[in-house]
Amino acid sequence: MLLSFLGAISKISNFVMTNHTPEMSADLLCDRCGYDLRAHPDSAKCPECGQSVAESRRLATMPRRPAWRESDPRWRRRMLAGAWILVLLPLMDLMEKFGWASSVPVPAIFHFPESGCTLADTFLCGVPVYQLLLFCMGVVLLSSKERGRRSSKLDWTGRWGIICSYLTLLLGAAPIFFISALVLVGIAAVFMSMPLKYQPGVTKFFVAVGAAYLRYGPQPKNISVAVRLAFSSVTILLACVPLYDALRSSGPKRFAAALLAPLALFSLIRIAQAVYSVGPFIPNGVNLYHYELYFRTGSLAEAIGALATGAHVPGSLLGDFFVEIAKWCIVLAIAVWLSIAQFAAWRRRKNASAE
Ligand SMILES: [Zn+2]
Repeated sequence: MLLSFLGAISKISNFVMTNHTPEMSADLLCDRCGYDLRAHPDSAKCPECGQSVAESRRLATMPRRPAWRESDPRWRRRMLAGAWILVLLPLMDLMEKFGWASSVPVPAIFHFPESGCTLADTFLCGVPVYQLLLFCMGVVLLSSKERGRRSSKLDWTGRWGIICSYLTLLLGAAPIFFISALVLVGIAAVFMSMPLKYQPGVTKFFVAVGAAYLRYGPQPKNISVAVRLAFSSVTILLACVPLYDALRSSGPKRFAAALLAPLALFSLIRIAQAVYSVGPFIPNGVNLYHYELYFRTGSLAEAIGALATGAHVPGSLLGDFFVEIAKWCIVLAIAVWLSIAQFAAWRRRKNASAE
């Protein structure tokens, strides 16, 4: 009985040990394609994909997920910047809601003496260019490539995250270009109503560009709202992968998963909403210029404004508010978490260099 028990233990320990040995032995797989490189010298290249054997050997000694302080510094800076940029997303809506935007002066290109130009008069505020640009910048930074790391099965999420965020930007830009074209044609019409000798030289150019866009350029359609919403949600879903990598390299895995799970869940809900609204379900009163992205910063600002003034908040707006504030708090928590990790890494490096 005792002997068989000892036998079982030695079998288990044997298993554990042999399970460990492949990592220690000369077993070497190509980092890029998984080809067995055991029989190849360091100076050779992988016969399948051309990756250098020495590089695969170097990467094989690294842990699959290095600690935050040992990760690629450029990637760390980008993750940090991306998270903080997403935190700043509701800023412009709040500034608009509370009337602060109209007290921020901006330099005017054309000088009209009677109107001081403020932030509220610019394209950043009226048409939400700001949200679109910031969203895409943040997500592209989060999806950036991490250098000096073993490749993983989920590396494609970075590439697709960038592609989807550019598609979101493109879909969002179409209505803005459409409005700009209308404005250009309008200005040209005013110029053309002047006597010929007073007409500015740019009149012809305005007519040509404005009319060309209206005739040939993409025009806003209901379906583009749904597609944009879907793409922006997919982008966030894909960005959860690098975010998880960043969080678990600097803290407990379980907390990282718990923090990102609601973000991923909300994006799945958003994708379902987008799919549902296509086809026979396109609502009649859909506002094309209401910039639907994964983050609904407009409703957030509206609800905060109503709560601050003590006005009655309708139930649907309150529901939106709780969802949006939850998302924002998660993004803020991620940004603070990564900032603390980055600060700790910086302190450690400083202490190490001082010794
Ligand atoms: Zn290879």
